[in-house]
Formats: sequence, C-alpha cells, structure tokens
Amino acid sequence: MKSWIPQVDTVVVGAGLLGSSVAMHLAQKGMVGSDGVRVVDFDLEGTLSSSELNAGGVRATWVQPINIELSKDSIEYFATHAEDVGYRACGYLWLHPEDRLPAAMKARERQMAAGWPVEAWGISELQRRVPFLDKTDGIAGALFAPRDGLVNSNLLKNHFRTRARAAGVLFEDRMRLRKAELEQTGSVLLEFERFERALTSEEKIEELSGRVSGAPRRVEKIRAKRVVNCAGPWASEIAKILHYPCASVPVRRQISLFDCRDVDLTPYGMIVDTSGVYFHPEATNGLAGFATPGEPAGVNYEYDGEDFFMERIWPALYERSTAFERLRHVTGWAGLYEVSPDESAILGKVQVGDAGAHGSVYEAHSFSGHGAMHSYAAGRSLAELLLGGRFETIDVSLLSGRRFVDGRLLHEGLVI
Ligand SMILES: Cc1cc2nc3c(=O)[nH]c(=O)nc-3n(C[C@H](O)[C@H](O)[C@H](O)COP(=O)(O)OP(=O)(O)OC[C@H]3O[C@@H](n4cnc5c(N)ncnc54)[C@H](O)[C@@H]3O)c2cc1C
Repeated sequence: MKSWIPQVDTVVVGAGLLGSSVAMHLAQKGMVGSDGVRVVDFDLEGTLSSSELNAGGVRATWVQPINIELSKDSIEYFATHAEDVGYRACGYLWLHPEDRLPAAMKARERQMAAGWPVEAWGISELQRRVPFLDKTDGIAGALFAPRDGLVNSNLLKNHFRTRARAAGVLFEDRMRLRKAELEQTGSVLLEFERFERALTSEEKIEELSGRVSGAPRRVEKIRAKRVVNCAGPWASEIAKILHYPCASVPVRRQISLFDCRDVDLTPYGMIVDTSGVYFHPEATNGLAGFATPGEPAGVNYEYDGEDFFMERIWPALYERSTAFERLRHVTGWAGLYEVSPDESAILGKVQVGDAGAHGSVYEAHSFSGHGAMHSYAAGRSLAELLLGGRFETIDVSLLSGRRFVDGRLLHEGLVI
C-alpha cells in the first residue's frame, strides 16, 4: 500500500532566526495553517545553530547600502519590541587604525545618509566618553553609533516563532532533510530522516558534521509547492540536496567569557578594537570574540579554551586598558559563521536546472556573521518575494546567489 504524503504549500528547512522570521512573515501575510507553512529542523532547540551561539550584536554600520538597510529596518523593529527581544541601544564603538579610518569615514557618510546616526570621535573625545580605554596607541579615530546595540538572540527567535505558531505554522523537530526530488508538476518531494528520540550533543555534532550517528530514525516525506533553504552554515549541504550549487562555507568562530573585576562594562555596548577583537558586557562578565586568521572552512565546534583567550583575546585587551591587565578566563564556545564569498547574505529565488525549469526553491542564508541583525528584514523580504513575486519594502535583488555567476559581488568591508 502506498503511504500517504502530506502536502504543504511552503516548507522552510532550518528554524534558526532566519527560518523563524520567514515563517512569521509568511504567516502574518496570510499563509496560515500547518498545510500553509511548515518549518522543519534537525534540532529545534538549536544547540549548534548560529542563532544560539552568536554574540548578539546588532548594527547598521556597514559598507554596503543593502546591509545598512537590512539592519536599520531590523533594529527599528527590535526597538519597538525591545523588552520581548532583549534589545538595548547601547551602541557600537569602532576603534580604527590609520589605514582603515578613511574607508570607515566614507561608509559613515552612507550610514548617515540612510538616517543612521554615527558620531566621529577624536582621541580626547574617546577618553572623555570611555575613560577606561586609557591606552590609545594605534587608534586614529573612533566611530560611535548610538542606535546600534545588543539583542538577546534566543528571545528574538522565540518572538518570531511565537508569532508564527499563533497563525498555525507547525515547527517540526528532529527532522533532517536528506533527499529531494524536483517533480514535473513543479512541486518538490522532500525526504527526511525523523529521529525517534532526542539526540545527545555528541550525536548532534556527528550528524551535523555529515556523519551518521547510531540514533534510531525512520524516513518521512513531505510534498511542497515551495522550499526555502534557511539552513545557515549547512546551506550548501541543503543546496546540494535541492540540486543547485551554493558558494557558502561554514567557518568556526570562537567566543570567550572573562571576569573583568577592575572595570564595570555594563554602561557600554559593543566595542571593536583596532586588532579586530570585539567585546561587550555579558551580565557581570565580559564577552569577547575574534576571527582567527586562516581558520579553515568546515564544521568544527572545538573551543580552544583558555589558550584561545590567552593568545588571541587578552593580549589585545591588555594593550587597550590598564583595567584589563587582570582579566580571568571564565569559559567560552565555538560556533559557525556561514560565509559567502563576498561576506554578504544570499537571498532570493533559486534557478534550479535549466532556465525557467523550476520556480519552487528559495533561499535566505550565508549572512557571514551578521544574520541576527538582518533577520527581521531579511525574513520579510523573502516572504514578499514568495507571496507576491517581488521585493516590496527593500529591493534586495542584489543579494541573489546569481551574483557569484555573473561576477557582481557585494564585498562587505566592515566584517568582524
Ligand atoms: C560566534 C558567532 C558570533 C556571531 N555574532 C553575531 C552578532 O553579533 N550579530 C549577528 O547579527 N550575527 C552574529 N552571528 C551570526 C548569526 O548568528 C547568524 O548569521 C544567524 O544566526 C544565522 O541564522 P540562520 O537561521 O540562518 O542559521 P542557524 O541559526 O544556524 O539555523 C540553521 C538551522 O538549520 C538546521 N539544519 C541544518 N541542516 C539541516 C537539515 N539537513 N535538515 C533540517 N534542518 C537542518 C540546523 O539545525 C539549524 O537549526 C554570529 C555567529 C557566530 C557563530
């Protein structure tokens, strides 16, 4: 006997910030019910997702106008739901060395033209506003954007999910996409592995690294009119399953928590040092991250522990403040950036197979370390495209994955 296959209008693969935002927007625009939108995830809790492991920084201080717009609209939304999403307008302070200041000042003109205030500070203003930064060697100037800030990514994801669920969107756990068949009708037949119990952390890492753990599973299928690839660092794997090429790769990024007993960081927001080390207050501690140069692409959740802190974070902070001379490593973790070749997101409709052959695959991923801050507006853009066939609020057509074939890259210069 042939088994029954559920039919769904849109299946979103990946329930991180992006998948949850897309689902919320689709639902709010009228695509309701579990046969309207279904979001499937290998691990709904998101233990290893980037949405769980990020630093929570939100800023509209970008080089590319499209990145400025996506952040600006998202942050404005966060501000109107500040308590629900844990948004604080505590600002981003960038300390720029001589060779990078002119480009940052040029980008500032675009940010200001877009309506995003950014103050330019000389050294004396910096010392007046942030007195604990008492070692200023190598700083040519500082830019402070007061409406940039921090968000609680977990609260934000739940905010999107709660609203999507209220409209009937079904979020399905322990479902891993394994195969997809593009049918003549234009639908996509999706084949999942459904895990029969909760996976351990080790099993999750095994599975997400492309290996097969011993966890029991069965096959389940869904037929969808449309599929959206929101798989973050696994977007290339999902693209392969959906039969199209994708240029993005996962890259490890590490974060340390430290005890900074000699300075109270809580009045400040995110500070980005000339060295590339960034830090902000995290409850009573400090949180700092750094993109290790030459980090190879691949799924790697190994945190290098105190060695990372002592070799990469502490020396840079020590050079910035006498108050940082007695820092103590507390803990840390590693997560995955989802990096595209120009470090801007990939968003839009996907051309699968011959021109015009298939119109049912969409994507929103590869935010290259800035997905939390774009998540609201990016989800809205994708929902507009999916339902109305065009972008309405912000024209993000430049973010199409076609740009890597056509050579129209959008290099983003202010990435950390
Ligand atoms: C250390 C670090 C610091 C960061 N700091 C910031 C920051 O300060 N500000 C900012 O804006 N951004 C930051 N980011 C980036 C940001 O976290 C991401 O851009 C964003 O979370 C991406 O969300 P996503 O929904 O696309 O992906 P994810 O949150 O990774 O979600 C993808 C989901 O897909 C699921 N999945 C994967 N494969 C399958 C499959 N085969 N079947 C079903 N489901 C599958 C996964 O389980 C996962 O839940 C940081 C990232 C890291 C790692």
